[in-house]
Amino acid sequence: MKIVILGAGVIGVTSAWFLLKKGHEVTIIDKHTLASCETSYANAGLLAPSDAFAWAKPSAPWFFLKSILNKNSGIKLVPSFNLSLIKWSFQFILQCTNKKYIRNTKIKYEIAKFSLKCLDEIIDETAIEFHQDKRGIFYFFENVRSMQQARKSFSLLADFGLEISILDRQQLIKKMDKSHSLPENVVGAVFSKNCRTGDCRLFTRKLLEKCKQLNGFKFINNEEISKIINIDNKISSVVTDANTYRTDSVVVAMGCSSMKLLSSVGVNVSILPTRGFSATIETTDNGNMIKAGFEDSSSFMALNMLGNNLRISCGAEFTANQTPSTSMRKSTKKMLRGAAKFFPNVKKTDNIEITEGFRPMTPSTVPIIGQSSIENLFINTGHGHLGWTMSCGSAKIISEIISGNKQQLPKNINSIHQQLIGIYPCLLPI
Ligand SMILES: Cc1cc2nc3c(=O)[nH]c(=O)nc-3n(C[C@H](O)[C@H](O)[C@H](O)COP(=O)(O)OP(=O)(O)OC[C@H]3O[C@@H](n4cnc5c(N)ncnc54)[C@H](O)[C@@H]3O)c2cc1C
Repeated sequence: MKIVILGAGVIGVTSAWFLLKKGHEVTIIDKHTLASCETSYANAGLLAPSDAFAWAKPSAPWFFLKSILNKNSGIKLVPSFNLSLIKWSFQFILQCTNKKYIRNTKIKYEIAKFSLKCLDEIIDETAIEFHQDKRGIFYFFENVRSMQQARKSFSLLADFGLEISILDRQQLIKKMDKSHSLPENVVGAVFSKNCRTGDCRLFTRKLLEKCKQLNGFKFINNEEISKIINIDNKISSVVTDANTYRTDSVVVAMGCSSMKLLSSVGVNVSILPTRGFSATIETTDNGNMIKAGFEDSSSFMALNMLGNNLRISCGAEFTANQTPSTSMRKSTKKMLRGAAKFFPNVKKTDNIEITEGFRPMTPSTVPIIGQSSIENLFINTGHGHLGWTMSCGSAKIISEIISGNKQQLPKNINSIHQQLIGIYPCLLPI
């Protein structure tokens, strides 16, 4: 089949890889010169089934209401009279029951776990080096109450099979790298030993190069996709600002831009851009660095060493507005404070890049993967805060579906996919 993939983020490129391996002809189109220039550019780099919690949960509506008034909240709703924000919020509230929270978390956890296996499959074949570190992830806590709450939350993932350890301060000091300083107010941590870290942009770009070495692959860059043409419930072509491409099938993997394109052909999905910031600090001073990724759970901040770069990310603003944010300065200060706290040797004068990214977030916070109601239109998007972690697994799932081999997926993944079909009316039951 001739397949056109729309979008060269981590989701589009991993989809291309598995579809090429299935023997299809694959073209990726993106508006940027390089792959991974938007949300996949500078995320926190955590490959973390331990982050699989659905964000829609019974306490979330009240939390979001409070966040409107709390200027310092790491996660917050930015209210506006925007129809898609109002619709999204309503759908989000409907997902906030305990039953749906457990179901959605399970779906994300299973895709995330499967995804790490699929990532290993790619690494075994390509030997791509992307600063992967398999030493686990620490979740730090600054007060006993939030640590107790987290203990309760993590027990859900532990029930699903995630291996975690709960560490008090003394145990934490023992477990951490000796050369690393632990801020005084950290009371303990949750440690997830099977989670990893790695550079998403580096991986995506290197995988794109590997795709180029395979027969039947094309990367069309610097072209903005403007529409897809639907004739008799079949997509016949993709139109960009420069060309028209005929195709047998299309995969939409355009992150936050997926919703608009899909709705133009009557496929309705709900995706809200959720703004986050990251700081990448180049440093040659590696001596005193922590050797695992970690999250400072009190301030919703993740810190992680990727080669010679310290990557810090923070913030989740639910907003319909993707114009530059006024909170960038404040978030930058917060990230630099975080860096100073955990990495005292990183100096502010080091080379720093600040970026903002938009997580493509669905109301259930579960991704949309599958065949749409338009026969040859496939969707792989809406991965929200966990797209890097779920990328390879989602790509494998979509490639088997397109190839008509869904039964070749592991049984549990097949049944997880059936649940996705139940959540999203835009997906065709197969
Ligand atoms: C601050 C932050 C931290 C994060 N940390 C983590 C983490 O630690 N672990 C994790 O698993 N996930 C994390 N995420 C989430 C993860 O980064 C995203 O889920 C993932 O990058 C989404 O990938 P994507 O390919 O769907 O979207 P994108 O990377 O945004 O790719 C979409 C592509 O489509 C292209 N495109 C869009 N519209 C058009 C058009 N009209 N024409 C042509 N091309 C177009 C864009 O150029 C882009 O290349 C984080 C996100 C943020 C913002």
